[in-house]
Amino acid sequence: MPRLSSTAREKLYLAECDKARAAGLGDLPICNLCGAPIDGRRDRWHESHDPAIPRHMGGDVTGIAHEACNLRHNNEHDTPLYWKIKRVRQRFIGARVPKSRPMAGTKASGWKHKMSGEWVRR
Ligand SMILES: [Zn+2]
Repeated sequence: MPRLSSTAREKLYLAECDKARAAGLGDLPICNLCGAPIDGRRDRWHESHDPAIPRHMGGDVTGIAHEACNLRHNNEHDTPLYWKIKRVRQRFIGARVPKSRPMAGTKASGWKHKMSGEWVRR
């Protein structure tokens, strides 16, 4: 993801200030995730994408968020969703490879261990 330039960050911050003023929420921009104001002089902040649709799924930039809020949202929502999508897709296209041989005696192994101690094909 390309990093925003200082000018682009300034424009984004000021646009969010305007949005907050228009909504009657004060002069400071509002965090996209927690709803609290962001003071650009004291709080670290990130550009934030649609909370329901992460960037890797094509989500648009919808505002700015506190750095802590954005990182927590990423760790709890976006990254697990990314890996889940990847696993489901791999299973769907048949790309999943078993990690090792199946345990002896399970149905996947094709062998049955009888009470008498002999091994027979299922
Ligand atoms: Zn926040």
